[in-house]
Amino acid sequence: MTTTTPAGTPTALERLADALDSAEFTTALVTGTGRRPVLTVASRRTRAAEDIYADGWFWWSWAERIAPADDPVTAAHLITAMLRATPPTAPPPAHLARRRPAAPGLDEIVLSAPDGYELCRSQEHQAPGTPAAVIVTFGQLGTTWAEALWPDAHGRSLPMCGPCWQATRQAAENHRSNLAIHDTTGPPPPDT
Ligand SMILES: [Zn+2]
Repeated sequence: MTTTTPAGTPTALERLADALDSAEFTTALVTGTGRRPVLTVASRRTRAAEDIYADGWFWWSWAERIAPADDPVTAAHLITAMLRATPPTAPPPAHLARRRPAAPGLDEIVLSAPDGYELCRSQEHQAPGTPAAVIVTFGQLGTTWAEALWPDAHGRSLPMCGPCWQATRQAAENHRSNLAIHDTTGPPPPDT
């Protein structure tokens, strides 16, 4: 364990591992000094795999919230749905790479205004069609892969609603003390 890892993080990931169907998925929890705890979930059938992180929420590796960290059953349900839908060699989702309004550096995040009718990317907000309040473009958060926060978000942009951005900002600030957020949207995004 490291001083930058909140107590209880491995416990949340352990409970998530328990909530996943072991007949369908293998899970591997990796913890240790100097690295962020990560649960790798892999489909036994398709070999599709994703790395899951926990910090207040369960997170995909590309900085998208899955479910609150105290709700591993819901997270397991959503992870199951995602991995069942993912072909074994799927490229990164197109939306992640489609736009780069800026090139943030180490421990930098750039905010830009959504253009028109963009929707929040989170699974829970896609169905109801929650509008995005901000486009969040991630620089590299953390200097090494092992300590990186959301390694698959590096260099990519995600549309987020106000609550999703606030949760993302909170987690990023928890882990990257030098975090710089460059807001190019003009007025601050609304909270809802
Ligand atoms: Zn959202």
